[in-house]
Amino acid sequence: MKRIFLLSVLLSVALTAFLLVGCSSSDPTDTSVPADTTTAVTTETSAPAEPADTHLHLDPVVYPDALDFNDTESIERLFDMCEVVDGVRVTVEKRAKQIRMRGKVNDETFTLTIGLSKAEGHTTPEQIITVAKLFWYCYPQMYARFAVTSTPTAITLNIENEGYEIAHASGDVVHIHDQWLEKNPQDFDCLTHEFAHIIQSGWDGNYVPSSGDDTYMIERFADYCRYLYAFKGGYYNDMCWTLQTSKTEDTYAKSVRFWVWLDYTYSTADADIMKRMQQAVTKKTYPRADWEPTGAAWNEMFAGTAAEGKDLNALWEEFAASDIADATSKPREQGGKSILLTKAPLRTAVRDRYPEADDYLKVQ
Ligand SMILES: [Zn+2]
Repeated sequence: MKRIFLLSVLLSVALTAFLLVGCSSSDPTDTSVPADTTTAVTTETSAPAEPADTHLHLDPVVYPDALDFNDTESIERLFDMCEVVDGVRVTVEKRAKQIRMRGKVNDETFTLTIGLSKAEGHTTPEQIITVAKLFWYCYPQMYARFAVTSTPTAITLNIENEGYEIAHASGDVVHIHDQWLEKNPQDFDCLTHEFAHIIQSGWDGNYVPSSGDDTYMIERFADYCRYLYAFKGGYYNDMCWTLQTSKTEDTYAKSVRFWVWLDYTYSTADADIMKRMQQAVTKKTYPRADWEPTGAAWNEMFAGTAAEGKDLNALWEEFAASDIADATSKPREQGGKSILLTKAPLRTAVRDRYPEADDYLKVQ
């Protein structure tokens, strides 16, 4: 099975900045490389990630029971997930160096395996619990909307005190660095982004929305999902991850907000632009040239919507003139509502379009 390899690459200077300011962002240097295509995005200009220990100050912290977890009170709480994850029955199985969770949501069984063999205690048990809840909150929702036959239902999340410094996804495996949440304790939703990359399993860089050499939609799609399916309705995400404005991300290829706006404004339950895109890309329906701003692929994406007949350039102008384009997405306080969401109920609009996803949203 052909699978994309998605590797988030950040420049070392950017990483240093993130460690200082505390959160990841929809950074244009966060790029993805489909490894099994010969022509797509092999000309990335991002610098390769340097070894983690050149950036992170490695503390000599080791879980006393990192590989065992036996009889520790905090890990016992993981076994209470059935009670904690309201609306989703989850069974938790403790294994050597792994915690495996299995749950059935709307007749689909999902498995989350949390690998801890390379964790050394920087990610706290409480953070592991939050990460697990995030999975059960966001992944089934994205799956319900976007799944195709190649979309995995069994996902492994490895927490590793080595390797790529933040997080990346490849096939059905997500890696997060053991020290990322320690240093950025709000940034759980970098994992929503990575789980969205798992949803994109089957994407081929030769058949994605692109402009020239820029296969921009791989990352824009993952960040679109990060914003709309953020854990607990953005409780953590919105304090630390800004949905950039039309001025700071100033083209349809750069702007996550543009795709949020486009979907909010034009998609309907029967004509879901983002879902159509997922299906077209995984089926390799349109080569990259057809995804240029006036390309043929958009005719199918927009057919039957009020955007029918428009091209991306015209839609960008429409977006840039809207009051969604520059409204702030950061609330005044954690759990509060941003000006952006006051102007446009972006998340609830998607939820209303997919009432079957409501069950997932009971997760607290
Ligand atoms: Zn990414």
